[in-house]
Amino acid sequence: MKPLEDFSDERLKLHCIHCGVFLEACDANEDHVPSKCLLDRPLPDNPPKVTVCAACNSGFASDEEYLSLLLAAVLTGDAAPDASRFPKAAAAIRRSPKLRARIEQSRREQLTLFGESEVLWAADAERVERVIVKNARGHLLHELGEATPAHPKSVAFFPVARLSPDQRDAFEYIDEGSLLPEVNSRMLQRVLGIEPLTDGWVEVQPEVYRYAVMQNIDEVTVRTLIRDYLATEVVWTLD
Ligand SMILES: [Zn+2]
Repeated sequence: MKPLEDFSDERLKLHCIHCGVFLEACDANEDHVPSKCLLDRPLPDNPPKVTVCAACNSGFASDEEYLSLLLAAVLTGDAAPDASRFPKAAAAIRRSPKLRARIEQSRREQLTLFGESEVLWAADAERVERVIVKNARGHLLHELGEATPAHPKSVAFFPVARLSPDQRDAFEYIDEGSLLPEVNSRMLQRVLGIEPLTDGWVEVQPEVYRYAVMQNIDEVTVRTLIRDYLATEVVWTLD
């Protein structure tokens, strides 16, 4: 990805977007949005990053690892995922029997009406939601220069395969008319065509991670699609 210069209001970035602490008064560092472990190596050039407090940054690590391992397990059908497809997840599982046990706990096998066995994965929703909200806050700050209220109005995640064709279309459709970007934000540069969006989506890594940000008068929405499998949406109501 080509880095877009960010001219949006620096005053908005004085505080950690997660806990609100004043960044100059604490240890702060750059956090990848999306989480690095959700991407494949090599990482794209200049992946999006935002500055957050070090405590929040490291506080997300175990939930981020959980989600990346769960996705690898779901997509390969095995709690010990295929190392050629998910080398980092496979190595982490080999290193930690505890992690493997945690992922295996999510695995449910059941018989279908036709007597076939079917594998279901029950995600730890709280962990998954913490990662989704973390990345969504980061995408908003990165694109619009906007921090968000403490609590989202809604958080949702679901396998895209479960959506009907109409629901899938509605998820994919990004109303670019609803973009009201702050002057000089990255999103405005994108709207002006400096870095084109693909149908309103920012593609971080093809088939691995893309996101979209929509802003209306009283709401902001962030959607992501992870590995063409997991669709997510976070909505915040603005004051
Ligand atoms: Zn923080």
